Amino acid sequence: MIPYDPNNIFAKILTKDIPCNKIAESDHALAFTDISPQAPTHILVIPKGAYVSFADFSAQASQTEIVDFIRLVGQVAKAAGIEGDGYRLITNHGAHAHQEVAHFHVHLCGGRALGPLLSD
Ligand code: 5GP
Repeated sequence: MIPYDPNNIFAKILTKDIPCNKIAESDHALAFTDISPQAPTHILVIPKGAYVSFADFSAQASQTEIVDFIRLVGQVAKAAGIEGDGYRLITNHGAHAHQEVAHFHVHLCGGRALGPLLSD
């Protein structure tokens, strides 16, 4: 796995060197809108800790961080009003998934019918 780069764009959002449209925050996670939304609701949820991707987070984060993160995703989805009609969670790990930002994040997408799971 690639080492964590403390200068990645989401690290700079966490330090407030780069602004974001904050949706919600918990002890260990932050939710904000994606700068290039692919759906009417497109929110990114990131841990505050330095984790490169899902592989890193799932293996290294504490149970407290993992529970806090997952709970915030669910709370944000509910607050966004997309729980009833449905939503999709996406996380990209590594090159085959086209991960662009090497700080673990989940995309929370909804607000319309999203189509098939995967497309080339
Ligand atoms: P990935 O391909 O790594 O799963 O997704 C990275 C996401 O981060 C993309 O959807 C992209 O639009 C979003 N993104 C990249 N730079 C910024 C930024 O500066 N601010 C916000 N809010 N989102 C960003």
